[in-house]
Amino acid sequence: MKKLITIILILPVLVLTLSGSTNQDLAAPVVNIDVVDKVLATQAFDLNLVANEPVDYNIKYGDFEINEVAQNYRISLLALEGNNKIEVKATDGAGNSSEYIVDVYGIELLKPTVESPSKVIAGQAIGISSSWPESDIEAKFISVSVDGEAANVFFINNVARVITASKLGSEPREINIEVSLEDNFARTVKVDKVVSIVADPRPVQELNIPASTLSAITDEGREKERAMLQELYAESAKNTSPLWNSAFILPISGTGTSGFGVPRRYVKGGNVSYHHGEDLAAGRGTKVHATNDGIVLVAGFFAIKGGFVAIDHGAGVISFYLHQSKLLVEAGQKVSKGDIIGEVGTTGLSTGPHLHWEMRVNKIATDPMDWVGKIVP
Ligand SMILES: [Zn+2]
Repeated sequence: MKKLITIILILPVLVLTLSGSTNQDLAAPVVNIDVVDKVLATQAFDLNLVANEPVDYNIKYGDFEINEVAQNYRISLLALEGNNKIEVKATDGAGNSSEYIVDVYGIELLKPTVESPSKVIAGQAIGISSSWPESDIEAKFISVSVDGEAANVFFINNVARVITASKLGSEPREINIEVSLEDNFARTVKVDKVVSIVADPRPVQELNIPASTLSAITDEGREKERAMLQELYAESAKNTSPLWNSAFILPISGTGTSGFGVPRRYVKGGNVSYHHGEDLAAGRGTKVHATNDGIVLVAGFFAIKGGFVAIDHGAGVISFYLHQSKLLVEAGQKVSKGDIIGEVGTTGLSTGPHLHWEMRVNKIATDPMDWVGKIVP
């Protein structure tokens, strides 16, 4: 009984061996390929191969190539972008081979283009703009970090924007910007940019303001202005969205006299401070226009700033207009670009009729001339 079982077991093995040597195999292997025709680029997908006999597989996909001996074989591949071919070659033990080509479409990533200046002078505003092509893929979330800190991203005309600034007189350094765009398939593309801040070594301007003029400004007057600024910045922080959607304009058609950022002393031997605005020379009574749409935060007379108007443009951008003789707007009033807000004068700490114009970004003074004719600097 024991012997019989042994014989029965051996017999099929013999039959298989004989058939291999006597009948020559001329048939090419047949492979069943199971794979998706459309997949998200950068994500893994399975390629399933089922052959009618053991074969030596050669699989090519983009730069990837693999050889594997198997009958049934499954491999996970990382999807390439766009239309790509998977080439499968199966060769059996007798050297017969068959080839298959399957197209796999990798749904593209949403790639943002990022525009930012490569170099700015300390005190210049840095405008960062990001957009992406129209496609079936939707942008779900965009974030921008400036030196590792999340920035306020806002949209004007469908372009994602961030405005940041480095303080006047700050040391040369590099600002690192990272734009991160996530699509509706939870895929994220990151773009890095570097902005170099360079120093602006200009000679110190001596204003030689008479001591009597300066002494006329009381501590109480200074404190009132400081408190007013603190309050207006707090009020402006509530408006994280932009209130403008077109280019900024010059508030008056005057000519620049003292440029933004000039280091200067008010009195001989005094401390050096930076000029936070652009002085535009114009005759007394010249109409002053809002540089862009916004809401009036402050309109009033102060010891140093004189006839002062502050307009909040939203997204951390505020414009200041100083030394006016007459104010024609009130706090809380909505203004449109070009609206008359006051008249040029020489009130406050001023040596002659001119408009001192400032453009503040998150409290930091930036070069106003950088904004003229642009939606963001
Ligand atoms: Zn000035």
